[in-house]
Amino acid sequence: IRAGAVIIAAIVALGLAGCGLDDDGGAAATYRIAFLLPESKTARYESHDHPAFVERVHELCPECETLVSNAGQDAARQQAQAEAAITNGADVLVLDPVDSAAAAVIARHAETAGVPVISYDRLVLDAPVAFHVTFDNEQVGALQAQVLVDAVADRRDDGVLVVLNGSPTDDNAALFRSGASLVLDGSDVRIGVETDVLDWSPDKAQEAMERALATLGRDRVAGVYAANDGMAAGAIAAMKAAGIDPLPPVTGQDAELAAVRRVLTGEQHMTVYKAVRTQARVAAELSIGLAETGEIPAGVRSAWVDSGNGMVAALLLEPQAVTRETIGSTVVADGFWSIAEICGGL
Ligand code: BGC
Repeated sequence: IRAGAVIIAAIVALGLAGCGLDDDGGAAATYRIAFLLPESKTARYESHDHPAFVERVHELCPECETLVSNAGQDAARQQAQAEAAITNGADVLVLDPVDSAAAAVIARHAETAGVPVISYDRLVLDAPVAFHVTFDNEQVGALQAQVLVDAVADRRDDGVLVVLNGSPTDDNAALFRSGASLVLDGSDVRIGVETDVLDWSPDKAQEAMERALATLGRDRVAGVYAANDGMAAGAIAAMKAAGIDPLPPVTGQDAELAAVRRVLTGEQHMTVYKAVRTQARVAAELSIGLAETGEIPAGVRSAWVDSGNGMVAALLLEPQAVTRETIGSTVVADGFWSIAEICGGL
């Protein structure tokens, strides 16, 4: 998040005055920026990423156009949306891939068409991209696992964890799991059942949790590692339907409004707040700079990540754990949700 100030300074230095005139008073160029989102069952994309991105592009460049699409979890559809954006004259693709591996086709096609790609949130594997704007995803998994391990401390005599990982087609899911391993492997908490949940589907997470309860017995579950809030909702629904009361600690991610409310009422133990509005704004700034200069300003990079096609310069923003005690100092303090929004549904 600190990097945000560096980026804004770098972009201002590019001379994007934003009133349609360049430094010499001539008409400034306008750009078409495509923003390709992966799905809409997870609330963040349409509630935060999409509006924040469009707003920031227009703040910096009122004449610029945004071409926003959501693939609804369908990789082929996303490829068609990317091709349509290129055909419609997109100058830059900001791509959050449905499928990290399948999206290589999109990035290669864009390269052939001379259109640079910013890999947004999820990394495009085995293909050229200009930059990657994401969070420290291993840290996300480590935060989830640490808070869970601490929370199950008194419940683990005979109890075990149920681990519900994100979609195997999303490279982030593997990063969350590997960050979680750093904590789980060093703890004495045992895993009873572990499964990947296709498409991050809340319904499939619910079914996976039902199967886990059938295998383990309903009294054996000491805690649930659910990789995001939608899946946490599915796991909690399965446990409530089985009459489990009190519920064991359940993790999540995204600080969705429904999840923050569950954390407040104690149904979900924690979530992870990622400042996705900052992420979207930074991606918008970088995409305009990239269209204008063909480059990402120096100083934006905080890390290099391996995409399988060489090292990619990346900005890794910092995630924060949210428990009942820290709702105020995280999501509320950052203006992500107001107290009225959180309490309005309770
Ligand atoms: C994102 C999460 C999101 C999940 C499901 C991940 O790649 O980082 O924020 O919950 O995908 O869309």
